[in-house]
Amino acid sequence: MACYEDLSGCPGFGAEHAGKLLAVGWLSPRRDYTRGEVEADFVNRLVDLLVDPWQPAVSPGRHACEFCRLTGGPSMIEYQGKKVLHIGQTNLFVPAEGFLYVAPSSILHYIDAHEYAPPPQFCRAVLDCPPMRSVQYLRAILTNGPRW
Ligand SMILES: [Zn+2]
Repeated sequence: MACYEDLSGCPGFGAEHAGKLLAVGWLSPRRDYTRGEVEADFVNRLVDLLVDPWQPAVSPGRHACEFCRLTGGPSMIEYQGKKVLHIGQTNLFVPAEGFLYVAPSSILHYIDAHEYAPPPQFCRAVLDCPPMRSVQYLRAILTNGPRW
C-alpha cells in the first residue's frame, strides 16, 4: 500500500506527475509521523473539502488505515453534522503555488484517531482553499497541478 513521506513528491498518480503533487497524510506504521494538536478551524475546513472532493480520472485505489489492524479504519466519519463518505477511497487535492497537495481522505481519520498533525503549510493551504468544486477551485487545480 502507498506510503509517502509528508511533502515528498507523490508518484501514486503517475511518476510524470510526482513533481506537481506533494503527498500529505499517507501514513504507515513503518514510518514515524508528526503528532500534535490541530486547530479547530483547520479541521472544519478540511471536513468541508472532504464532503464531496473533486477527483481526477485516475485513482490509486483504496487507502486502508494500517494502524487499525482489524478493520482498516472507518469508511465514514460524521463531524458536526457533516458526513464524509468513502474514507480511504477518495483523495483531496489542495492547490498551492505551482503544485497541489494530495492527501487521502483517511487524513481525517489519522487526525481523529492517530494524533496526526499535518504540516503547517498544508493546514494554511486548506484554510486558503476556495470552496470545493467552485470555479476558483477548479481553476487553481488546473493552473497549479499536473496535466492529467
Ligand atoms: Zn486507523
